[in-house]
Amino acid sequence: MSIKIRHLVDGCKLEDVGRGITARINGLGYWCSFRVGQHFYRHCMDGSVVLGAGATPLLKEQMITVHECYFCWINSVPPQDEIVVKSHSLSMADYDRLAKRYGAVYPEEVAILPPDRYGDIVIAPAIGCPNRKCTFCAFYRNKPYKVLSEAALVEHFADVGRLYCGKMHSACGVFLGLANAMALSQRRLVFCLDEICKRFGALKKGVATFADPDFSAKRTDG
Ligand code: SF4
Repeated sequence: MSIKIRHLVDGCKLEDVGRGITARINGLGYWCSFRVGQHFYRHCMDGSVVLGAGATPLLKEQMITVHECYFCWINSVPPQDEIVVKSHSLSMADYDRLAKRYGAVYPEEVAILPPDRYGDIVIAPAIGCPNRKCTFCAFYRNKPYKVLSEAALVEHFADVGRLYCGKMHSACGVFLGLANAMALSQRRLVFCLDEICKRFGALKKGVATFADPDFSAKRTDG
């Protein structure tokens, strides 16, 4: 068996040319993407598994089949790398636990991100949208808007840190959510940005957010 390993900022990519399989595994050993022949799967932090470019969600039984296929394959890969060893040690129960932890950190689903920010770590100083009047809105129209208190926000940062472990310092960017972080007061926004700076260090892609000008706090240059 010939396996090529390429190390990435967070994890590695394995290529099993003989069997037409590739997988990207994060630094904790969880698979993030898994290609078997023509089938390309992505494992999302919320526990879902999606198929193909259209990100079609799989049913529970289908997800289990994909995980089993991955376990079967990764366990046949020699323990030639620390990340492979970590991946060997993970079971379905670990993936379920990760999904539960993710659900606890983001009780409000992260419904949408701009495509160029899919790799960001999401910080949610507020949930929902202060507007909620757009009739076409499929994501936040019927959800309550709530800004986290400063204490709850500090706890959220700590929870995110525990969820992503080492990835905090290798993240390319942070997305400040959820629907419109520009609605935060200047004081709260600056607090968030200071915390991000302190905990993430320099971010290659910086910090991004959605902004609805009708519901954004007034800003000054100073
Ligand atoms: S501003 Fe955006 S998120 Fe808020 S209700 Fe309108 S479309 Fe939805």
